[in-house]
Amino acid sequence: MFNKTIFLVIKVNKKIVAAIIAFILLLILIPLFISNNPIAVFNTNRKIIVVDPGHGGIDGGSSNAGLLEKTVNLQVSLKLRKILKDKGINVVMTRNSDVSLESKSNLKSSRYNRDLHARRTIIDSNNSTAFVSVHMDSYKKSSVRGVRIFYYSESEESKQLAQSICNSVNKMVFKDFLNITTVKAEIAPGNYYILRTSKSPGVIIETGFITNPIDNKLIQTKDYQQIMAKAIAEGIVEYMYR
Ligand SMILES: [Zn+2]
Repeated sequence: MFNKTIFLVIKVNKKIVAAIIAFILLLILIPLFISNNPIAVFNTNRKIIVVDPGHGGIDGGSSNAGLLEKTVNLQVSLKLRKILKDKGINVVMTRNSDVSLESKSNLKSSRYNRDLHARRTIIDSNNSTAFVSVHMDSYKKSSVRGVRIFYYSESEESKQLAQSICNSVNKMVFKDFLNITTVKAEIAPGNYYILRTSKSPGVIIETGFITNPIDNKLIQTKDYQQIMAKAIAEGIVEYMYR
C-alpha cells in the first residue's frame, strides 16, 4: 500500500513535469508560427524591397475616364509583391489596402507631407535594400503614353535600379507583350521627396499615362498589370544580383 502511494506520487509528478515542459515548448514555438517570417530574424544578410503603391484612401492621385490612379497603383503593387516573394525576396508594403498614411506620421505638416513622411519612415525603418514607388503619369496631351522611371540624380544606385527596370519593361512589356517599338520606357532624373530623403536607393515608376486612352485601358487589365509587375520584379532582381 505504502509503495503504491509513492509510485502514484512519482507518476503524478512526472505528468506535471511533462506538462510544464510541453507548456514551455509551446511558449517558444507559438511565436515562430505566428510570425510572418521567423527565419529572417536570424538572417542579418536578408534583402528587403519596399513596395510603395502611390496615394490611397482620401488621396486618389491623378484620375481620368473614371479611373483613379490609387486603384491601379495598388493592384500592380500587390502583384509585384507576390512575384518578388515567390523569388524568395522579402517585401514590405507601405500600404496593402485603400488607405492614406498621414496618420502614421507625427510631423507637424500638411496631410500630403505626413503621408509621404510615413512612406519614407517605412522605407528607412526596414533597412530596405531598395524601394519602388508605383504611380501613373498624367499629361495635358492625351496622345502621350509610355513608362517613365524616375531616379534621384545624386544616387548612382537609384539610377542603376531605374535603368535595370527600364530595360526589363522595354523587353518584357513593349517588345514581347505588346509587340510595339513606337512606345518605350525611359528613365529620368526626378527631385522628389521620397527619392531625395530615403536612406536606401529607390525609383518612382510611372506605369503609363492615365490621360492616354490606350495606357488607361491597358493598365486596368489583369494581364497587363501582371506583365508590368513581372518586368519591374525582373529589373529589381537584375539590379540586386548584378
Ligand atoms: Zn501618383
